[in-house]
Amino acid sequence: MTQGDIQTVKTSKGQEVKVHTHLFINNEFVPGHGPLIETINPATEEVICSVHSADESDVDAAVQAAKNAYKDTWRKLAPAERGRLIHKLADLMERDKEEIATLDALDNGKAFWIARDVDVTDSIACFRYFAGWADKIHGKTIDTTFDKMCYTRHEALGVVGAVIPWNYPTMMAVWKFAPALAAGNTIVMKTSEITPLPLYKLAELFQEAGFPAGVVNIITGYGATTGAYLSSHKGISKMAFTGSTLTGRKIMEGSAGSNLKKLQLELGGKSAQIVCADADLANAAVHAHGGIFNNHGQSCNAGSRILVQEEVYDKFLELFIAETKKIVLGDPFNDDTFQGPQINKAQFEKILNYIKIGQDEGATVALGGKRWGDKGYFIEPTILTNCKNNMRVMQEEIFGPVVCIATFKTIEEAIEMANDSDYGLAGGVYTSNLDTAITVTNELQAGTVWVNCFDVFDQSTPFGGYKQSGFGKELGKYALQEYTQVKVVKIQRLGL
Ligand code: NAP
Ligand code: MG
Repeated sequence: MTQGDIQTVKTSKGQEVKVHTHLFINNEFVPGHGPLIETINPATEEVICSVHSADESDVDAAVQAAKNAYKDTWRKLAPAERGRLIHKLADLMERDKEEIATLDALDNGKAFWIARDVDVTDSIACFRYFAGWADKIHGKTIDTTFDKMCYTRHEALGVVGAVIPWNYPTMMAVWKFAPALAAGNTIVMKTSEITPLPLYKLAELFQEAGFPAGVVNIITGYGATTGAYLSSHKGISKMAFTGSTLTGRKIMEGSAGSNLKKLQLELGGKSAQIVCADADLANAAVHAHGGIFNNHGQSCNAGSRILVQEEVYDKFLELFIAETKKIVLGDPFNDDTFQGPQINKAQFEKILNYIKIGQDEGATVALGGKRWGDKGYFIEPTILTNCKNNMRVMQEEIFGPVVCIATFKTIEEAIEMANDSDYGLAGGVYTSNLDTAITVTNELQAGTVWVNCFDVFDQSTPFGGYKQSGFGKELGKYALQEYTQVKVVKIQRLGL
């Protein structure tokens, strides 16, 4: 078996991990024909290693391998056997948890302990959840007339293409791998070329678990070339995408201009967290803080707008600032680090520019606002106050550790402000009044609404957006609908 070029990468603490840097196609690591791409450690700005990327011929090869695997092996395998293989993979991930988390932290800059205890742990849980579904995907029988019968089959789509971002390199992939494979599809996954390493470790585990050749193919490459070619490929039945709304539109164009492939788009957000006067403010400060500052603000669902009822504004701000001051920035491999660097120079500059735009628009920097340290793409957790909903910083996705705080008088006003956004991914309300909680959760135009908490995920609960935050649900039973199509079979009884 070809085992392309394995590199040994090293953390700041001296831990070493061996990782493949070639494409994973048809269960082999093979050289790519696209440009070599350097992946950078955002904490040090140094090159970790170079990886091969896929050109059009490599994408064609990956799609062909996935097509063959769908036709010849995967769709013929007993569903329970698919489940067993996915469980086997989850066991191997459990065994190699530290290595996968190390690559996540090194490539992305997130704290190692968070990568291990959240990203990788939740990814394993996600695989196990969907492994359990593999043999429970059934159609229905429908009675029509005495001499006719009808049943439905929930069939796989065929080859799924996936393009994922860099903010949760392992988890965003697993959210797609798990339901796609459980439902009987094969897959071509393009990692973000900014964070390719963790998925090449996963590729090794797919191979070791015994997945038939071609069921899982993992490639990397630039979005504008490799990603665009994949999304307009006629051999792909569905594209699953997570990333910006702008790129989501391009993926739609790719589908429209080729074979009208099914789409699932999980795009950006500008989620509002509404803090009512009757809220437990200490609880609200803790959860609102995690709601924006988890993952350095690089989450699509980040609660980046906090709307506070006027009478508790001073008290909430005091608690929220105190909470934010506890954030420890630093080396992702330190045990006490909560916030690492932003992903790259472009995002780092974009975020600092937004802080300036906010100030120019009249916002006040109540905390932070600057680069942290002199090496790596670190930005101080930043609180902008005196924000108004029509400001760019209240409307556009900053995707960094920057929160915009505004005040409101009535619940109706808060709902109107929260909904005054092109996005509709998530929202939250902090209140001790059940009626307020029900009113706000019913009225918010958002795919997920949290009450007295924020950013709480579970593999069994669906996640996906309203409005320009996209469509289609990931996770939970709902995700299976995204990876299956319903066939109706009608039979005429001819009589004895
Ligand atoms: P992006 O451009 O949407 O990138 C996401 C993925 O799509 C990457 O793998 C990207 O590759 C690929 N891509 C780009 N153009 C493509 C095309 N024409 N066809 C197919 N795939 C394509 O996001 P980004 O540039 O990394 O970040 C920019 C902004 O997007 C952020 O500031 C944030 O606002 C938002 N974002 C949202 C999420 C989310 O979870 N919803 C995640 C990441 C970013 P390249 O990297 O080569 O472009
Ligand atoms: Mg990197």
